[in-house]
Amino acid sequence: MDEFVVLPATYGRSYSSIRLDLLPYDSHILGSVHSHPGPRASPSRGDLRAFKALGETHLIIASPFTRESVKAFDVKGNEVRLEVVE
Ligand SMILES: [Zn+2]
Repeated sequence: MDEFVVLPATYGRSYSSIRLDLLPYDSHILGSVHSHPGPRASPSRGDLRAFKALGETHLIIASPFTRESVKAFDVKGNEVRLEVVE
């Protein structure tokens, strides 16, 4: 069974963090998705630290939050091809 888990986040003017301590124990976590308020979808240093705990593939949705503004990254922050299957 697949499950989408939303973790609470705290954020301010120039930072954000998620509550990794609330992550359910699961060795099959596939990845993560979060948004950036601006147009840059590149992972921050904090994002890269979180990626290590959250699986293999990570999506960042940047402004203006369209399909074209979504980028996918591997755990090291290298951009990977995102294929949408409908
Ligand atoms: Zn980020």
